[in-house]
Amino acid sequence: MSVKQNQFTIQFWGVRGSIACPGTETVRYGGNTPCLEMRVGGHRFIFDGGTGLRVLGQSLLSQMPIDAHMLFTHTHWDHIQGFPFFAPAFVKSNRFRIYGPIAPNGATIQQRLNDQMLNPNFPVPLQIMGAELKFFDLEIGKSIEIDDVLIENALLNHPGEAVGYRINWQGYSAAYISDTEHFPDRLDENVLFLARQADVLIYDATYTDEEYYSEKSSKIGWGHSTWQEAVKIAKAAQVKKLVIFHHDPLHNDEFLDKVGEQVAEKFPNSLMAREGLSIQLIPPNNGQENNSAVNTVKEIKISA
Ligand SMILES: [Zn+2]
Ligand SMILES: [Zn+2]
Repeated sequence: MSVKQNQFTIQFWGVRGSIACPGTETVRYGGNTPCLEMRVGGHRFIFDGGTGLRVLGQSLLSQMPIDAHMLFTHTHWDHIQGFPFFAPAFVKSNRFRIYGPIAPNGATIQQRLNDQMLNPNFPVPLQIMGAELKFFDLEIGKSIEIDDVLIENALLNHPGEAVGYRINWQGYSAAYISDTEHFPDRLDENVLFLARQADVLIYDATYTDEEYYSEKSSKIGWGHSTWQEAVKIAKAAQVKKLVIFHHDPLHNDEFLDKVGEQVAEKFPNSLMAREGLSIQLIPPNNGQENNSAVNTVKEIKISA
């Protein structure tokens, strides 16, 4: 099914970092690992394939045939584990174009998605997937254009490398920056570049500053950032809306509520990412002529 033309919608299917953590303590924000869907100007984009991708897949089954672009930031488990369980990839009529940078060891995105499904790690190989799958190696720092959607990427500071993305369409923009660690002495110029005046910045704030700089169990060098850094970036880059993302599995709903309040004190136009959250950059029923970046937030229910 085709995607509505005049929209820029960001939908969160998995917001948790590192490992899925379902349970009574995480039920409101969700326990699935990273997966975002963006429906932009008639195209469907899927960012990362954490366990949230399985849930997105279930919802797409009622909208087939699906034609989508899938972009991976990197292939740590939490960003690819949903891929073997992505039901639409097993259906012949669907088409997925899959993008990712080459890893420092030379492995392409195709090799890495293939490898995680090899026997005896998974019962069926990637070749069983019946949809049309095409793989593309992204050059770090080189933009791609899909019709009138421009997708920029830049290298992030993360063990084994990751890239962040910025999606631009008709004057609207969203930056997806997960997983990354800030520098001690300066703001990361790649992050600032991707986030520049974005309508929405989705940022890796796995930790609080207290946890990150803790003398007993510092998280320095673990490849993730903090909400305090997210606020600094959002202000410096003049971002309109900040979304706190890649929540630590140890942070329960109550803890994340408190983080959300603290972030909002420093940066009022902010949100904590949670499963089912949908952000529409163009309000529904607005005509083509509306170019003002009004950020309305609509909550939706996930049916799967
Ligand atoms: Zn991650
Ligand atoms: Zn990672």
